[in-house]
Amino acid sequence: MRPGHDKQKNVDAVAEHILKYPGIDQTLAHGENKVSVLLGSGFQVDVRMLAKENFGAALLYFTGSKSHNVALRGRALDMGWTLNEYAMTTLKGGKVVAGKSEEEIYAKLGLDYIEPELREMTGEIEAAENKKMPKLVKLQDIRGDLQMHTTASDGRNSIEEMGEAAKALGYEYIALTDHSKAVTVANGMDEKRTLAQIKKIRAAQERVPGIRLLAGIEVDILKNGSLDLSNEVLAQLDVVVASVHSYMQLDRDAMTDRVLAAIENPYVQIIAHPTGRLVLRRDAFDYDMEKVLDAAKKNGVAVECNAYPDRLDLKDIHLRMAKQRGMKVVISTDAHNTTHFRFMKYGVITARRGWLEKKDVINTLPLAEFLAALRPKPSAAVPKPKAAKSKSA
Ligand SMILES: [Zn+2]
Repeated sequence: MRPGHDKQKNVDAVAEHILKYPGIDQTLAHGENKVSVLLGSGFQVDVRMLAKENFGAALLYFTGSKSHNVALRGRALDMGWTLNEYAMTTLKGGKVVAGKSEEEIYAKLGLDYIEPELREMTGEIEAAENKKMPKLVKLQDIRGDLQMHTTASDGRNSIEEMGEAAKALGYEYIALTDHSKAVTVANGMDEKRTLAQIKKIRAAQERVPGIRLLAGIEVDILKNGSLDLSNEVLAQLDVVVASVHSYMQLDRDAMTDRVLAAIENPYVQIIAHPTGRLVLRRDAFDYDMEKVLDAAKKNGVAVECNAYPDRLDLKDIHLRMAKQRGMKVVISTDAHNTTHFRFMKYGVITARRGWLEKKDVINTLPLAEFLAALRPKPSAAVPKPKAAKSKSA
């Protein structure tokens, strides 16, 4: 073992190195085993330097949440141990029980490992005790992206560019879902343009092999709950995503009825950014979430977890409600250019906070299974009698 002053020398050298980082605006603290700085970007960064054998205990301690840590400490005490940021030790004698890794600490406490996203005291301790932890969805599970915009409405890239960029990410399919006409500021498409866009997507498919380009729409849910495009046109699309972009201040009953009416439309397959919230800028719509989720479940409509950083909508607690109902969820980026595809990770993180597993998220499915998981179109759900066979059908 090295003498103590050598160890401190190493720690000091690491601290000096960190303080050379060019993005630092201000050094807030520089202690024996701690450096705190304020970055030019506005973020505060705290670095703790601890011995390897303390790493797990320190990580657990600083990750939180506070209430989760309190529960773990209580559990440790019941077992005759004390848990702090350095280690879990015996109450008598201070013998180290665990501390190197979080996994080791949870195991000693008789718990399955609890993912950081779930450490919120919303049932995770009981789940870990009973070996019922969810296997949370991962970014690598995602096989397609189901909301994006092209130059046809307010996006920056063409259908082909979006297709190529998605293919480069290893996706199997994407849905190109430009806006409908009610969103005039986004140059939304009317019936005629939507039909032309479907043709363009089919033609682009020829030029972008190796990934399925699904013809989609983000159709507006109008004030009275009807949709912005006719059912005849919606029937031509592979994926119909519906969402609210107007009259966001309706009272609770009116807004609930409005979304319920949209869910009742047999062509609607996905409700996008269902609460309309914008992080730090706009509150969620006031409506009866339980009723909306129940209706979506009943009609086989999927709800979106919008990965765009301003939205993250549905958020964790609503996704958990969807999971408890056994609902289908999609995670989509709402990309307006090819660089936005990278937002998928924020959607996945949000979904993980909502306890979602791979099986809850239908865009983790291979193409054929994904398409089968979407609400069937009325024409597909009710096959025509054989006698009425016609070439145009
Ligand atoms: Zn939208």
